[in-house]
Amino acid sequence: MTRRLGGGRLVIATHNAGKLKEIGALLAPYGIDCLSAGALGLPEPAETGTTFVENALIKAHAAAKASQIPALADDSGLSVAALDGRPGVYTADWAERQWFEGAAGRDWYMAMGKVEGLLSEIGPDADRACWFSCTLAIAWPDGEEAVYEGRVDGTYSWPPRGTMGFGYDPVFVPEGRDVTFAQLDPEEKHRISHRADAFAKLVAEQFGS
Ligand code: IMP
Repeated sequence: MTRRLGGGRLVIATHNAGKLKEIGALLAPYGIDCLSAGALGLPEPAETGTTFVENALIKAHAAAKASQIPALADDSGLSVAALDGRPGVYTADWAERQWFEGAAGRDWYMAMGKVEGLLSEIGPDADRACWFSCTLAIAWPDGEEAVYEGRVDGTYSWPPRGTMGFGYDPVFVPEGRDVTFAQLDPEEKHRISHRADAFAKLVAEQFGS
């Protein structure tokens, strides 16, 4: 049987203040007191895994070991069927500007264009099926672990539409809709997203009766 947290402190293995706030609010009703890896001064491990599960586990185990407190980490990204699941775990990397382009940071329009370019090379009949994945991993200081995988399926749509959300939202049309994640009311996106799916599974197993 999977081990349960049962309340108390939990390190959120992220240096992203937005993620900490969102996860803290989701877990507060269950008596979980969230601390951030950044605030504890924990180092960020290299994400050397080739799957979302491997990367989430690397981050959760590193934070649990360094803090001696149970830790939760996530890893997410977009996979495109016709590209054999790419960009997948490299979703954020595909948006990374190169030094010779003169500006550091991430360019989501460049990344979305790269995916579109590869689909265009395949041709007009390219399969545009794609999905967002979110893996949540909990690790305990003694090495025990639990993993929850969420997913939302959709279609890669071009050109980008909408101004809400972040990342690849403007090209992702979830199944059963005709608008992109960036055109959907954020509350609705949060209800059907890969992250919501993973959290529902975590909450059911960790805090369900
Ligand atoms: P990470 O898990 O924070 O490393 O995120 C991986 C990347 O996946 C993000 O930088 C986004 O580009 C993309 N991504 C993950 N979730 C979403 C989403 O809900 N909408 C759009 N892009 C997303």
